[in-house]
This record gives sequence, structure tokens and C-alpha cells, in this order.
Amino acid sequence: MDDPDGALHQISTDACCALRKTEVLETALDGFDAWITGRKRFQSGTRAEVEFFEAEGGHRLKINPLAHWARDDLEDYIVNNRLPLHPLVAKGYPSIGCAPCTSPVKEGEDPRAGRWRGTEKTECGIHFIDGKMVRFPQEDAA
Ligand code: SF4
Repeated sequence: MDDPDGALHQISTDACCALRKTEVLETALDGFDAWITGRKRFQSGTRAEVEFFEAEGGHRLKINPLAHWARDDLEDYIVNNRLPLHPLVAKGYPSIGCAPCTSPVKEGEDPRAGRWRGTEKTECGIHFIDGKMVRFPQEDAA
């Protein structure tokens, strides 16, 4: 209803991510004290400082149990647990986002280089402080 042509990402990726991801997630997380993500330090420069626990304002805890996993840890886990590889990884997509905003990544590039390529946007903005969405990375973030 709010994006009848499905073209909002061409006008404003921030507005599109807010509509489709961040606001919906915030609604889903309402009433919860904590949530768990799969973010890992090796994924990109903006995630290089990810810790196991992050305070989201004074009201919620974000837990990143895989924060210190390296790419080798991930690959070992996949092999040891006989997990199937996502077919798009073999096609050059080590990080998979929405189709309009994700492109293949070349050898040696940051795994998330294909996300919003050509723009300064690096995260969808799923970060909340005091109930409000906060765009990351922040220069003054601790
Ligand atoms: S990643 Fe792109 S298509 Fe997906 S919600 Fe964000 S702007 Fe929209």
C-alpha cells in the first residue's frame, strides 16, 4: 500500500528499508528485552567492532553470538554439520539482501560490497536506541 509501484528503493533506500525492514522489525521486537543476530566481525568494516552484547538504548539487548567467528569458522561449521550452501553464494553473493539492492561481489572485495553498491549506505538501519531507529555506522558511536 505504501509503495504500490515497488519503486521506493529507486527514490530513497532509507525510506524503503524503513518501510520494509526497520519499522516492521521494531514492531515485532516491541515488548522483548533482547534479540539475537547473526552479525560477524569479518563481514564488513562497519561490523568490525561488533561485540557479543550491545545495549540498544536502555530498553533492549542485542546479542551477537557469532561476532568473533571468522570466515573459516563459518565454513567449518557448515561442513561439520552438513549444511547446504546457499546457491547464490556460488554465484558471487556472499551477502544476500533484497534483489534490487544486491550485486555480485568480486574476489577480494568486502563480503558486503554488493549491498547498496555505489552508495554510502552499508546497513539497512536495523538499529534502535530508545525506541527510535538510528542509522549506523555513527561517527560518535562507542
Ligand atoms: S534493501 Fe533495497 S529493496 Fe530492500 S528494503 Fe532496503 S532499499 Fe528496499
